[in-house]
Amino acid sequence: MKTELEFPETLQEAIKYFADEQRSFEYMKLIRWPDGIVRCPRCESDKVSFISTRKLWTCKTCKTKKQFTLRVGTIFEDSPIKYDKWICAIWLIANAKNGISSYEIGRALGVCQKTGWFMLQRIRLAMQQGSVKKMRGICEADETYIGAKARYMHKDRRTGVGDAGIRKTPVQGILERGTKKKHSRVVLKVVPNTRRPELCGNVREYVLKGSTVCTDSLMSYDDLESDFDRQMVNHAVTYARGHVHTNGLENFWSLLKRCLKGTYVNVEPFHLFRYLDEQAFRFNNRKDENGDQGRFEKAIAGIVGKRVTWKSLTGKDDPQLELLPA
Ligand SMILES: [Zn+2]
Repeated sequence: MKTELEFPETLQEAIKYFADEQRSFEYMKLIRWPDGIVRCPRCESDKVSFISTRKLWTCKTCKTKKQFTLRVGTIFEDSPIKYDKWICAIWLIANAKNGISSYEIGRALGVCQKTGWFMLQRIRLAMQQGSVKKMRGICEADETYIGAKARYMHKDRRTGVGDAGIRKTPVQGILERGTKKKHSRVVLKVVPNTRRPELCGNVREYVLKGSTVCTDSLMSYDDLESDFDRQMVNHAVTYARGHVHTNGLENFWSLLKRCLKGTYVNVEPFHLFRYLDEQAFRFNNRKDENGDQGRFEKAIAGIVGKRVTWKSLTGKDDPQLELLPA
């Protein structure tokens, strides 16, 4: 993304740079409306006037709810936190190799852990990849199980707990192998089970028909053979037959698990998909030619049109879900 402002390259520079409120505002405005035309978030009209003293716009088309701020329709909506803190948090999250906890965010920005947690969750939403370009060439599909510690669970939910009191959530990964021209990338999905409709459905959604899909010998993938060049490696016999292996994903899983263990106290299954989005984002942008700055800009570009509330994040509607800090 091109901006006319000269842009910081390190976190230190970013903190200094965005400490200027007017500059933060101008920058966010550019992210919000990249073509420079301010549009009403409710009716999309560009017939608006700006009240500079209050930093808000009035829409001339809307009959009610005429006024809007920069925050309406973004992940910042209804948040009293200033842009400079948001921007620093996005920078930190986009670039922390092993993730960052809400406690660290809180300490770094001078906010409480709960606020840090809320910011993290909102930023993860911005990191979600919208419509991903379909994967092609040689791909891998594999599953892993991510455990939630039983002691954090409500006692009614401990039923169905697996080995050693660990309840596990299946996660499917699909990886497109890198070539000379592009780096490998992943898509991660929390799946309710590892049966055929779930696993094959995701492959069909993310992989171009006719591509090669390497899997282990799980029968659930048999369905792919009609539309894909499905290659199977039987892990009971060997881990690789030439290019047929799932080592790309195996490596990714160990990275992911190390990160979940090291940085996050616990991941509630309800929130797992957001952590996965964050990890996939960092992995897929790990070799961004503009480094930290490039990753930051990609993350921040995702803020538009994304909005979540505390209620939707914490699942307060569902009394069985507990709010857990991560
Ligand atoms: Zn309007």
